[in-house]
Amino acid sequence: MSSYRLPWFIVLWSVLSPLPGTAAWFDNYQTYAAYQQKLGEYAATYPTLTTLSTIGNSYEGRAIPAIRITGTGSAEVAKKTVYLNGMMHAREWIAGMVPMYIADRLLTGYGTDPRITSVLDNTEFMIVPMSNPDGYEYSRLTNRFWRKNRRPNGDGSVGVDLNRNYGYQWGLNSGSSPFPDDETYRGTGPFSEPETVALRNVALADQDVVTHIDFHSYSQLILSPFSYTVDPAPDQDLLVQMAHTMADSIQDMHGKIYEWDDPFLYLASGTSIDWMYGDQGIYSYTIELRPTSSNPGFLLPANQILPTGQEMFPAVLDLAEYTMQLAGGDFDVNDRFECADIDRLVRGIVLGSNKAELDLSGDGLLDGLDVVDWLARAGRANLASQASYLPGDANLDGSVDGVDFNLWNSNKFTSLPSWCGGDFNVDGLVDGSDFNVWNAYKFLSADSIVQVPEPALNLLLAGLVAAGVFRRTAF
Ligand SMILES: [Zn+2]
Repeated sequence: MSSYRLPWFIVLWSVLSPLPGTAAWFDNYQTYAAYQQKLGEYAATYPTLTTLSTIGNSYEGRAIPAIRITGTGSAEVAKKTVYLNGMMHAREWIAGMVPMYIADRLLTGYGTDPRITSVLDNTEFMIVPMSNPDGYEYSRLTNRFWRKNRRPNGDGSVGVDLNRNYGYQWGLNSGSSPFPDDETYRGTGPFSEPETVALRNVALADQDVVTHIDFHSYSQLILSPFSYTVDPAPDQDLLVQMAHTMADSIQDMHGKIYEWDDPFLYLASGTSIDWMYGDQGIYSYTIELRPTSSNPGFLLPANQILPTGQEMFPAVLDLAEYTMQLAGGDFDVNDRFECADIDRLVRGIVLGSNKAELDLSGDGLLDGLDVVDWLARAGRANLASQASYLPGDANLDGSVDGVDFNLWNSNKFTSLPSWCGGDFNVDGLVDGSDFNVWNAYKFLSADSIVQVPEPALNLLLAGLVAAGVFRRTAF
């Protein structure tokens, strides 16, 4: 070892400034080039935690940068992805700074803050802070209130509203405009714009995305799908529950209220959250950041950047923890492992599902391995012995007995993709092969089987999969 030592004031400075310039960076709105540079610094400073990429190029050829962030520790669940993107609308400058701030806090907190460390060890973040770089540079240099991208429309007008260009319920006249010079012009077709194609492809390429936020400003709202209709989404309760949690965390930080309970803004079709949720099954939110009203509106003063980021960060951690909970098999996030959860999984395997969280084993397939994984997780959570639930235990009480037979018997010879209804081989039918599963395990309790060394139990369960007792469907 060299005996060379740094002067004391350099040591003190480096201790006090672990990432020089970071605080100052968030004191002002930054240029596109400064975003690029900052992302490069993150990648250089945290090479084991980050992957820097370009997800595509804008109409004018600017790279759309992305940073993927995840921890290096061991994960308790299959890692699912939290996807954040910002500043799809050029004039909403705060909506680019906030995802950068979130990246900053994740990276600087990993390994020191237990909550951040746990979140990063069990999830991945995919962050695209600047979704519309052409529009942003035009807003910065020419027209501060520019919203759209910078495609020439051929009629003298310029720009497509990227958040009306997504391919789910695209083209409805209630909520988007067919007229090129309108602010909400939806483009010539779904995903006609390179920016929306790039943002879409992130989700298509990573089929582990479970949650998503598209940051906008202003209004202080947490909006969930659908935007194109006032009808509730199938997962309305869960979407609202997660929004409520995020809103509470936001308010706890600086007292700002973000509406979540009746957050309908106006009809909008072709939005990012509708495609993320409607096409990909991702729990997706638009968060409209500070301020509440048109004064100052898009002209949010730079001294609001840090507090806006500070109040948003714990909300994003909430969403990441929900993502972990979903990835652990508690699909209705009520802190219980019960029939509602496993039956949701069984329906997904039998009928197909676009919900990434159902792939508990993380192998890209929805199949019996996910059921085996769920039975093990649920047993650990519910049973005193923490043993895996056994095949045939319809009522999830830890033993395969007459009660389970009666459940099978009352549903036998029906189409019923339900574990708790007796479909133990997860083929959508309650029939003789399910009886055979029950019969093979009857009068055994999880507690007795726990004496079997765990590898043997795994072989037993995996054998069911290999024998075709559990069917495999492409995910
Ligand atoms: Zn917006």
